[in-house]
Amino acid sequence: MDLPVDEWKSYVLQKWSLLPKSIQVTISTAETLSDIFLHSSSLLQPEDEMFLKRLSRGYLVGKDPNAPLFYREEGNKKFQKKDYMGATVLYSKGVSHSRPNSEDISLCYANRSAALFHLGQYETCLKDIVRAQTHGYPERLQAKLLLRKAECLVTLGRPHEASQTISDLESNFAAKPTLAASQFQVLQRTLCRLKVKVQEKENLTETSPAALTKAFEDVDLREENEQISSTSSSVSLCTDPLKGRYLVATKDILPGELLVKEDAFVSVLNPGEMPPWHRGLESKWDTRATNGDLYCHRCLKHTLAPVPCDGCSYAKYCSQECMQQAWDLYHSIECSLGGLLLTLGVFCHIALRSTLLARFEEAGKVINKLCGEITNRDTCLPESKNLAQILSYDLGGESKNKGKTVETPIPGCDINGKYENNYNAVFSLLPHTGNHSPVHKFLCALSVSALCRQLEAASLQVFTTGLKSSKLKAAAAPVLYPELNIWGVAMLRHMLQLQCNAQAITTIQQTGSEKNLITNSRQVRLATGLFPVVSLLNHSCSPNTSVSFISTIATVRASQQIKKGQEILHCYGPHESRMGVAERRQKLRSQYFFDCNCPPCEREKQRPSQGPGREAFCCHRCRALLQGDDVLSCGSTSCTESVSRDHLVSQLQDLQRQVGMARKLLRNGELERAIQLLLGCRHAAESFLLAEHSVVGEIEDDLAQAYAALGDWEKSAAHLQKSLRVVEVRHGPTSVEMGHELFKLAQIFFNGFAIPEALNTIQQAEKVLLVHYGPWNDEIQELQKMKSCLLDLPPIPVGPNE
Ligand SMILES: [Zn+2]
Ligand SMILES: [Zn+2]
Ligand SMILES: [Zn+2]
Ligand SMILES: [Zn+2]
Repeated sequence: MDLPVDEWKSYVLQKWSLLPKSIQVTISTAETLSDIFLHSSSLLQPEDEMFLKRLSRGYLVGKDPNAPLFYREEGNKKFQKKDYMGATVLYSKGVSHSRPNSEDISLCYANRSAALFHLGQYETCLKDIVRAQTHGYPERLQAKLLLRKAECLVTLGRPHEASQTISDLESNFAAKPTLAASQFQVLQRTLCRLKVKVQEKENLTETSPAALTKAFEDVDLREENEQISSTSSSVSLCTDPLKGRYLVATKDILPGELLVKEDAFVSVLNPGEMPPWHRGLESKWDTRATNGDLYCHRCLKHTLAPVPCDGCSYAKYCSQECMQQAWDLYHSIECSLGGLLLTLGVFCHIALRSTLLARFEEAGKVINKLCGEITNRDTCLPESKNLAQILSYDLGGESKNKGKTVETPIPGCDINGKYENNYNAVFSLLPHTGNHSPVHKFLCALSVSALCRQLEAASLQVFTTGLKSSKLKAAAAPVLYPELNIWGVAMLRHMLQLQCNAQAITTIQQTGSEKNLITNSRQVRLATGLFPVVSLLNHSCSPNTSVSFISTIATVRASQQIKKGQEILHCYGPHESRMGVAERRQKLRSQYFFDCNCPPCEREKQRPSQGPGREAFCCHRCRALLQGDDVLSCGSTSCTESVSRDHLVSQLQDLQRQVGMARKLLRNGELERAIQLLLGCRHAAESFLLAEHSVVGEIEDDLAQAYAALGDWEKSAAHLQKSLRVVEVRHGPTSVEMGHELFKLAQIFFNGFAIPEALNTIQQAEKVLLVHYGPWNDEIQELQKMKSCLLDLPPIPVGPNE
């Protein structure tokens, strides 16, 4: 997903292997990104571009005129089955394939408004009604839409507007004597009912719907850092030749303290499961919902009612405003490249978007000016100093930042020593040019060249759109080549930077159906972004911070106490509770090019190899730990049991298969059978796995899930507590994993009306989650609702006569 699709990767790999040795050597030994780019670019042939074009066509990103009807009908089917969520998604797909101001789009919006109404999403429903009307909803159907509008307004406690809508409706009837008598009666009855409701509401004091807008803006850094933007004053930026740039605490920091709150410089939504060309689908239109259907492509907010780009079916936004902003900032150029960008992958897309965003900054202006300098050498602009510095830094290769530029003590900082979330800082992130394999550099360079060619073909004025004057555009047009090459080099740099600096933007998604009272949550990757300030944090397999996201904003909180002078550390992925030391170190070396020397790595390195770990097997006779390599023998002196590792591994695989089957039963609602199977699994697990083995925890968790679905809260709680113990041993009592598990337990106690246990667990869950997420997290909000609900319960009557 991050890198280009496999077909293009293997195509480039083959192309590389067929290159003459001398050219391979030239590219492998090229010292600057500029040389790598220019050499590779000169090798891009028309047939390579044709191949890419064929791949790109596999993505349906344009507007297909036949799709709206198809999706509307599929949506109607779901609607009839009362699957309003499913219907909403399909109507959205219909909307995204419709042209603006067409009957298609207005009908899809109107149908979506009906589904949203049933989902209780009244505000959003109203928005869709307005959208249907502005796109030319047919006059003959207006009455239905106006009725829905009035119902929404009544429900939202806006009786005055509802009255207005009702009188609009009445005049609408008066104007249409042709309405069938039966229809007329239905409408009249509904109207009467509504009028009564309106009167009721008018007598009440209006309730404020503003409660919903308590956004994350409230969460703020207590005191902003003067040296590094988006950072609290409790940290400062240091640099040393070994570690590079890093952050340290300038005072004692408490768990939960907000250290960084940074909006992404750039982010690109991960497309999720897109229908690739080779997978046989029964219809060419995909009815599955992906992240791209449910999250705004600009701000990443979850939305049930996206508004599509006017020009393509791929880009969708939470609002007209986001659509307009995205268009102005980058989408006007990306719109026609949808298929190509999906083929070339998210990294390439981010590389393009970063350079497009740079146009709006000082650095971008300077890039434009520098391009101007190349065209007419007589104009030398003083402001270009800044960019000349940046580009010499880049084009000359990262190692030799050759003279005559302004020296700043720390790369990425401005002349005053301030580090900000801007293009200059993004540019300063290391591309590690020397560490990537030659063929990887070739793949990136060739992909970027193909993108540049396409940009050039799509519009000769692409890179000058920042310049409003048509005279300037005309001036720049004939010399696009050198200009594009500079941008190409910048994009190549970004692509290489991303391997170490890309930040996955994640969200917690609730899984399980609406019927399921216990929500399982899982972390999903929504997008990939560049955060120049977060990128300053070094890695530890046992970090002292926790990163979470709201929209495109990353927040970094201390997950434990950090003493003054200690380094602020964050985990790049390989966490000690999820991976063994060898696997972690291998991953960090291959992706991030360093050897991890964090305390857990040092500790685990010292210990004799094949240390027990928590995934170890135990003796089926005496439950002592089994030790050894190929043949394991019991650690207990009084026991002579021994068994081959292969045997145990295949036993574990068998067990996992069975657990998978049980989950399927659970999903299909076959609860009794699922429980039987899971109890069998647990029995099997006890004979050869330690009690803290992750699979044991998963089995207990699934059992809790099944009993909860049956309404047996007591058993459910008992199993979840066992799962909780496994999580605690594996991830630690204050880990975010522990927080999610405690949240589930709180729900179980709450549903089972075990009031003291529920209150106690809510408190524990809140305490853990607060440290990682801060107060506006969904789960914390939910916990608080549960708490106030429990505390507001009337006292239980003691006897019948009281
Ligand atoms: Zn948005
Ligand atoms: Zn578009
Ligand atoms: Zn480590
Ligand atoms: Zn034994």
